[in-house]
This record gives sequence, structure tokens and C-alpha cells, in this order.
Amino acid sequence: MTFSKLGLSDPILQAVGEQGYATPTAIQEKAIPAILEGRDLVATAQTGTGKTASFVLPLLETLQVEALSGEPKRRAKRIRALILVPTRELAAQVEGNICQYGRHLSLSSMAMVGGVDSEPQRQGLIDGVDILVATPGRLLDMTHQRALYFDALEVLVLDEADRMLDMGFIADINKIIERLPTQRQNLLFSATMSDEVRLLAKTAVDNPVEISIAADSATTPQISQWLTTVDKDSKSSLLSYLIKEHQWTQALIFIRTKHGAAKLVSQLAKRGIKAEAIHSGRSQAVRTQILADFKSGEIALLVATGIAARGIDIDELSRVVNYDLPDDADDYIHRIGRTGRAGACGEAVSLVSRDDFKRLCAIERRLGHIIERKEIEGFTTVKEVPVSVLNYVKKSVGKSTRHQGDGKQTKGRAQEGKQQVSKGKHKLNTNSQKKASGSSSTNMPDPWSQWRKNDKK
Ligand code: AMP
Repeated sequence: MTFSKLGLSDPILQAVGEQGYATPTAIQEKAIPAILEGRDLVATAQTGTGKTASFVLPLLETLQVEALSGEPKRRAKRIRALILVPTRELAAQVEGNICQYGRHLSLSSMAMVGGVDSEPQRQGLIDGVDILVATPGRLLDMTHQRALYFDALEVLVLDEADRMLDMGFIADINKIIERLPTQRQNLLFSATMSDEVRLLAKTAVDNPVEISIAADSATTPQISQWLTTVDKDSKSSLLSYLIKEHQWTQALIFIRTKHGAAKLVSQLAKRGIKAEAIHSGRSQAVRTQILADFKSGEIALLVATGIAARGIDIDELSRVVNYDLPDDADDYIHRIGRTGRAGACGEAVSLVSRDDFKRLCAIERRLGHIIERKEIEGFTTVKEVPVSVLNYVKKSVGKSTRHQGDGKQTKGRAQEGKQQVSKGKHKLNTNSQKKASGSSSTNMPDPWSQWRKNDKK
């Protein structure tokens, strides 16, 4: 399959070629013809599958054809397509994609997000915008202020719907939908298809084409994951050591708090390592600039709180570091999904201290396998981190439980965790971990296959 078979016109094909895309991804192959036919769409696809182009390309095509045929022209304070996204960063990224794919067209687009001066956005709307990419809060503010009307709206895209619901945007989204013309095309994209997303789909879309993208080898992230255990107060020196020793030229480093992020940047600086921090305490303008510098390679090491965890697409990001493990196992998957995108290889490294143990267990259970542990010379832990046990099967006789991973029987959960841990540091080797993970995988599918399963529901 080639892009030229999908019904896209030359200026768009040219832009796609300039991006270096040779063939459409699975979601593009399925979604583009359906959208061009004017159908509503519900698609389950995680970031990294090429989903943005799957709706931006046909959107550009439809709007451009109408513009050329002399039908609706750009009008002040009116938009023709609205793309709702959960985060400011994703808005900037999607709008950037629109500019790239639409570079040979005469359509206009704008990202409209909170945290920045609204005046340029207000002026932009007066000048006329065809495609608006917005976060729900700022969009509602602008409509309340009569800076924007929806009577010319033709297409609504809900991107990363599950994330928007996770972030509590459902009331805002419903308020926005109430204001839209009933005659419109609706496209909903979500990484997961929970009951909440299905409910939103019921309200938002009409008789949709449903697309379930089974992640294939080209789109499944190729991520090499490993962890090293470390005492909490040694994390920054271990990180400095890893950066220097392994000559890391690029890493996105996730940390729990903004205070922690600022502290880590200064601890690294004291060791001669230059890093920048991105978190909600910094202005939107600074965040945008830092992200741009990180993408361009000017900033090599970026310390980030959760805001950068999802939706940010950095081409060829080679490494993600979990300085702290996230509370939510799904967040771990979204974090490491920043690397190894579009078939490229990536590395996800976690620095795990004893107080991360519960989070580690949840993550490994979610992954369905134990993450490989590596020992870093010179960083011996005082507080050991036990090995998580993936599955417990209650025995019908007695109270003991069985750890399916190694087939041994033990008296209880705590003991089971300990049995695989050496007296020294990181005694457990990769083989025994693989054994544990392998046998448990029948009960615990990997999260990408879980997504595939959700797709089919
Ligand atoms: P997305 O899933 O939209 O976040 O896209 C993930 C990455 O895939 C982005 O870096 C896109 O530039 C890239 N991409 C999108 N479509 C294609 C394609 N057909 N071939 C190769 N890369 C693509």
C-alpha cells in the first residue's frame, strides 16, 4: 500500500514524501479512506502508531477541496475543524504536524491552550482559523467570551480521549459538544477503550466506523527495559554516574515533584552535567522553548514531571529514565512509550529504591514480566529492594501460596518476595527473572497485547 492509493491529493502526498514516510501505517491505511468518505470514526490506537497523520491528512484533504471548490471560506471567529487534546504540549505537537502536512496548502491552523496570554489567540481567531487544536479549558473560556463561534464547524476530533477523561475533562467536553452544530463529522481516538470512553463515543459520534489497530512489529515500541536498585539518597549520584559512564547524549528523566526536578538539575550541575527541568511551575512559554530545544538536541537531558509523560512525540528519543517510579502502572507504560517509537529502538531505565517497591510490583504485574535488573558497580544498596512476585495462586490445601515463576512453594507472600533475593546486592540474575516472567505470561499478557484485547471488545 502506498499513500497515493488512499485518495489524498498531490500537495499532501508531496508533504508526506518530504516527511520521509514511505508507506502508510496500519491506522492510516484504515482511517484515511473512511474519513475521506465523511464517516464518523472511533479508533483505538496508542501514540506511536501514526494516528495523528491518520486524521490530519484526510482533514486537510477535505477542507482544502472545499476551499478550492469555492465553498465555505475562512470567517472571523469561526473554525471549520476542532481538534480537542488533553495537554498543551500535545496541542503544540498536533498543530506542528498540521503545518508540516499542510505546508503546500493554503489552510490555516492554530493551537489554543491555557497558561499563555490569550490575546494573540483572540486575534488569531479574528484573522480566521480553519483548524483549531485546543485544550478544553481555554476553548470554553474563549467561547464564553464570545471570541469563537461554532456555526461553521464541520469536523470534531477528540484525540487521546481516554487521557482527557483521566484528566477530568468530561464535563468540559460535554459542554463543548452541546455548542457544536449537530451536522458534523466526529473522529474519536483513544489508546484504550474503557467503558467511560465508550460512553463518550455514544454521545459524540454517530454510527462510526470502528478501527482496532493491533500493534504490529513496526508500530510496537521496541524498548529495552532495565532497572537498577539504589538507595534513595544515592539516586542523583547514580544518575550522574550513568550519564557520564555511558555517555548518555539524550535522556528524558521522569521525577515525581517539581521541587525534586529543580533540585536534581542543580545536583547534576554540581557534577558538571547540564540538564533542564520542565514542570507545571514553569511558564508555558518556557516549557515550549525547553521542549523545542530538547527536540532539536540543544538540550540533551530533560528532567520532567508527569506533564511530559504522554502525547509528546520526540523523534528518535533514545532513552527514558524513571528517576522515580510513577504511582500508576499505566503511567510507566506511557512514559517509556516516549522512546522506541515508530519501530525505532529505545531504552527505559528505572532507578528503584526500597520505597518504590510497591510501585515496582504493580508495574511488573501490569507488564506481565519482571524487569531485568542490572548491577552498577560501586552502588551497593543498604536497603534492598525485593523481587516482585507476579502471580499468586492460592493453594486449595493449607494457607501457602505458590509462586508460579519458579515453581517453588513457600509459606507466604513476603517470604516469596525474599526467596529470590540474594543476601548481597542484585543477586537475582536475568535468567531467573526471565523464567519468572515467562511462566507468568500466560496469566499476565503484556500491556500492548492487552490493548489489542481491549480493541476487540
Ligand atoms: P503518532 O502516533 O501520531 O504520535 O506518530 C508517531 C510517529 O510516527 C511520529 O514521529 C510520526 O512522524 C511518525 N509517522 C507517522 N506516520 C508515519 C508513516 N507513515 N511512516 C513513518 N513514520 C510515520
